[in-house]
Formats: sequence, C-alpha cells, structure tokens
Amino acid sequence: MNVPLVLTQFLDRAVSLYGAKKAIHCDDRVFTYQELNNRVNKLSHGLRSLGVQKGDRVAFLAPNSVEMLEGFYGVFQLGAVMVPLNIRLKPDDYLFILNHSETKVLFVDQELYHLILPIKNQLKTVEKIIVHYIESETDEVGYDQWLDSQDDRPFNREPLDENDVCSLLYTSGTTGNPKGVMLTHRNNYIHALSTMHHLRVSDEDVLLHVLPMFHVNGWGSPFYYTANGATQVCLRKATPEAIFANLEKHKVSVMHMAPTVLNSLLQYYEQNVPELDQDVRVIIAGSAPPPAFVTRVEKELGWEFIQVYGMTESSPLSLVSTVRSHLKDIPMKDQYRMKAKAGHSMIGCEVKVVNDNGEEVEHDGIEIGEVVTRSNGVMKGYWKNEEATMETIRNGWLHTGDMATVDEYGNIDIVDRKKDIIISGGENISSIEVEGVLYDHPAVLEAAVIAVPHEKWGETPHAYVVIRSGGTITEKELIAFSREKLAHFKAITGVTFVDELPKTASGKIQKVHLRNEYWEEKGKSGRFV
Ligand code: ATP
Ligand code: MG
Repeated sequence: MNVPLVLTQFLDRAVSLYGAKKAIHCDDRVFTYQELNNRVNKLSHGLRSLGVQKGDRVAFLAPNSVEMLEGFYGVFQLGAVMVPLNIRLKPDDYLFILNHSETKVLFVDQELYHLILPIKNQLKTVEKIIVHYIESETDEVGYDQWLDSQDDRPFNREPLDENDVCSLLYTSGTTGNPKGVMLTHRNNYIHALSTMHHLRVSDEDVLLHVLPMFHVNGWGSPFYYTANGATQVCLRKATPEAIFANLEKHKVSVMHMAPTVLNSLLQYYEQNVPELDQDVRVIIAGSAPPPAFVTRVEKELGWEFIQVYGMTESSPLSLVSTVRSHLKDIPMKDQYRMKAKAGHSMIGCEVKVVNDNGEEVEHDGIEIGEVVTRSNGVMKGYWKNEEATMETIRNGWLHTGDMATVDEYGNIDIVDRKKDIIISGGENISSIEVEGVLYDHPAVLEAAVIAVPHEKWGETPHAYVVIRSGGTITEKELIAFSREKLAHFKAITGVTFVDELPKTASGKIQKVHLRNEYWEEKGKSGRFV
C-alpha cells in the first residue's frame, strides 16, 4: 500500500526516535520532541474547538519561535492550511493577504500586534486573534493561557491526502504584489527528502534559524531538521553579534541565510574577529544572487559554503552548488568559482535553461536563456489566480523569470531576473555581474545596479551604493573603477550613495523600488514606467 507523503509523519518519527532529545531552544525556553508534540496536540485541539476544519486557513505573524514551529504541525494535524506572514509588511499588506487568503484564525506575536490593530475591523474572515507572549493589555486571548487550557491527549487527525494543500505562501514581493502560492504535503515532503540529502542533514545537527520560517517555510527547514531529530535554535533577533555569541553556546552546526545577511556576518567577523570555538559544518546561502566574495566563508571562517537557488513556486529549492567529488582535484579557485554559481539540479527536480524557442542553450557559459523547472516541488498553483498560474506553468514546466547560462560542467549560473536585466544599445547587461565588480572595491559595503534611461543607449547601469564604515569613494572614482574592470558598455554611468538599500524581510534587495524612485523622479518614460 502506498503511504501518503504527509508532513505529520516527520514529527511522529522524531517523537518515536528522539522523544527525550532537545527539539527546540528558543531564547530561554527549551522543549524536547515529546514536549513539543504535547504542545502541538494542544494547539490542534484548540483549533478544532475554534471550529477550524480541513482546508481552512490559519495565519501566523511571528518571528522564528517555538510558536512558529509548533504552528506548522498543529495546523497540519487538522488538514488545515498554514499561512505564514512576512513580519516586515505594512498593515495594508496584512489586510490584503488576510482577506485574500480568507484566513479564519490569526496568531500574532505581541510585538507585532500593533500592525494588525489598525486593520482589525476590516478583516472579513478572521474569527479569532490569539496573541503570543501577551504581556500588555489587548482585547485578544493570550496564547500561553489558551494553550494551557487545551487537551494534550493525542489528536484524532483528519485523514490527509498527499495532494492536499498544506501551506499558502505569499511570494517575497521583490518585483511587485505578492502572490499566494499553494504548496501541497507532497510538494514539501519530497522537497524535504531531497534537501536533507543535499545538505547532509543528520540527528547530530544543530540548526540556528537565521532565515525566517515565514519565508517559504524557512526553505522547509522545520520539516527536514525535525524529521531527522536535529535540534533547532531560534533567536528573536538574529543579528551578526547574536549569531556569533550563540554558536558555541548551542554547538551550532548549520545555518541558512540570504547573501546580504551572510555579507553582514562576514563584515562583523572582519571588524570584531570573535573567537570561533565552534566548527560550523556548513553555511547555506540562497534566495538572491550572492556576490562572488561569499565564498570567503570557506577561506576565512573555514566553514563549508553551499549555494542554493529556488523560488516560492517550487517549494523552493531546485539547484544546489556542491562540488561533485570527481571534480575535487580541479584548482581551488575554479571550485570557488563553481560555488558562486547556483549549480546543478537537486534530486527530484529537472531544470533546464532554454532560449525563446524552448531549446536548451549551449553549455558554453555564454548563451543566456530562461530557467525552467519541472519537479515534485512545483506548486499546485497561485491561490485564486488561474491566469497567473497558466502563465507561469506551461506544458508542465515552471517558468522562473530568471535568466542563466550553463557551463561545460552543466552548472547553471543565474545571470539576472528578466526584469532586472539592463538593455543598453541592444546588449543585455547582467546587473549581478556589475554588482559583483563593485563589491570588489574595498569601500563598497552593498551595491544594487539598475537600468536608468539614456538618450543614446536606451538604458545604462546605475549603482546605488552603501559605503563601508570608514571607507571613502566618489562617484567619479567608482565609475572609473567599473570601467577598468568591465567592458565599457557594462560600466556604471552614475552612482547614488545611500545609507541603506530597500530589502524584503528575508534580506533581498528590492531593485523595483530603486527603479521606481529613479524613473519617476526623473519623469522618464520607458520600460519601467
Ligand atoms: P516576487 O515573486 O513576489 O517578486 P521573489 O521572486 O523575490 O518575489 P521568492 O520566491 O522568495 O520571491 O524568490 C525567488 C527568486 O529569488 C528567484 O526567482 C530568483 O530571482 C531569486 N533567487 C533565489 N535564489 C537565488 C540564487 N541562488 N541566485 C540568484 N537568484 C536567486
Ligand atoms: Mg518571484
């Protein structure tokens, strides 16, 4: 008989094999797998008593925490759908998502409750709001008290099918309005099996959550670390200082993060040189293009670096940058170069780079095409948006909107998002390539390159730059530096110095905001307005 691939099995396995082992350590609170499971059962009983049924949406607005982790499993036991909310949105964004998803129950962290208060009366479907860590006066129910009063006996689960939707995830909104992505148990389950293999996850691992769990289920980490009986550690605020301070304390072996966060970690390390008593086994970066220097993690910190690529619509991961063992004798510099690429397809995924005619591009590292993928992780569709689903999944292939080349080893290198490519005098310029050069300048802390209008060339690259503390550089010098390192048509033609760049909550630079600001300010018309 086929066993349905449903995520509740992951916690069941951990409880039966690792019941007394530490499951999660969050600030001062520690729970074993058995204790976590008791809380999960209480949560499911509580949700049932609120009338939540199979298929209903339950939203969470919370930082990485015990409450988030148990939320997944508590919701899954009912066959309900988890809607994790990005904690850095504005009240109106929550109004849109909560009404669009038709959420029935909302859990919100006390520190984030003020974001819900202004829109509370306009929520059309939310019947109950429950507040985590309630301390000050609100009209809502406090989570701890509510959970304590629930039954902790095993929960009589709803029968689940592996193709049932288990989470509704809103995309990062890097390029526009977020879209609701429906992922099934099967999507997440197979993605988890594949990812735990590629990242070599085991029961000896201690994961320090840096990537938010609301971001595409924290790349599924609440699933595959739980399935393996690993320990998970959460910090309410994962600043570089807090991360370094907790490595030794918790014997952290693995961390996942966006490249911008890794960048600030490296920066902190360079300035403070904290003692590293703990060997981190591996650090995994993805979600956005990493500047080539992140491979310094291996050289300077001595931690293995793996890059992954994916998108919410594919659970998310589909490419991984590990160097295959038969290539381990190629020069180190080539190995690092390889790791700076998104890599090759993960088990369970087919990934191709195709030209406009749908033919695969040459494996020459030059020809650019769009990344398309077909896998067990590809979403059921966008929630209530059939048209966008049909536009994105064509003939069974998910069209990512990301442009890439393929090298002689079959490694896929993301060149740019279709929307971020700069078209200058008919040539395509990768904003990522130009940013990579700017990051080589010692005074540059962060850089984002966008297309700006140009009378002769149509568009040219323009850089937004954050200067490193103590560093100095002028616009003229940075332009000259980029002309020295790049073909002249790719060099930047202007610089705007800023204190910080707009980012999504998971740490991605939102070039769309920079573009809108620039193009609207200059009153220009063209591709972007
Ligand atoms: P939206 O779809 O709302 O505009 P988003 O595309 O940023 O937001 P996500 O699904 O979180 O939402 O991100 C997926 C995108 O992130 C990919 O399509 C790709 O552009 C980028 N990305 C992810 N990993 C990498 C990587 N390793 N290298 C380059 N880009 C990456
Ligand atoms: Mg996207």
